[in-house]
Amino acid sequence: MITERLNYYDFDERHHDSYELDIEEPRICNYCNNVGEQIFISGIYLDNTDDEVAAVCFFSCYFCKKSSVHYMEFQSRGLNNRWLETKEVHPKSRLVENSITQNKDLLDKFPEFFNIYNQSQKAQDDGLDQIAGMGFRKSLEFLVTDFLLCYPPENVTKEWLTNPKTTLGNKIEKLENRRIKKLSKAISFLGNDETHYTRRHPEHDVESIKTFIKALLSDVENEMTLLEAEKLLNKGK
Ligand SMILES: [Zn+2]
Repeated sequence: MITERLNYYDFDERHHDSYELDIEEPRICNYCNNVGEQIFISGIYLDNTDDEVAAVCFFSCYFCKKSSVHYMEFQSRGLNNRWLETKEVHPKSRLVENSITQNKDLLDKFPEFFNIYNQSQKAQDDGLDQIAGMGFRKSLEFLVTDFLLCYPPENVTKEWLTNPKTTLGNKIEKLENRRIKKLSKAISFLGNDETHYTRRHPEHDVESIKTFIKALLSDVENEMTLLEAEKLLNKGK
């Protein structure tokens, strides 16, 4: 908790004044998603007692040095103990907005896929679309490999999957679910376009890759549910 002077205009006295208030500092930066103390820069107290937003404050991040605007509201404990807390932030978190799934099972099983996917998304947000495309293709490789590791078809070993000589195309051939196989192939074709000089599929771009990845994830999710159901049925035999 910090105590800071916030500016406001005093209509009775007809002059600018300031007011000392306790503020609970925000602890996450929506630009870089780093968790840590944010530095208070300045703030304005809005003397609108019936309004929910009581103040607007500016904070900067130690890590990326960017600043965000916090709309703050009063929290209180008893009559004389009140402080300001963030109600809304501008900008909103990019990671949450762009995250393609909230499914905990998927997030737990394929952390590397999401890590690479989110980094690629960040690159695309920053206008680095050439790099983003390659990143999305790489994320596919991790999703396919980790999926096969989690649910290995017959004759597919960990040694084979993790062997650097095994190509993404080899792995895709081992996928048993036809929809998952088709979508993976399509993403891999478009992904190759992103890494080569001449595009073979100029009608498709990074957005197409993302659309296919989204469909693929949803099929992977269904397949996981189905495999769990089969496991349950086999147990009863
Ligand atoms: Zn930051």
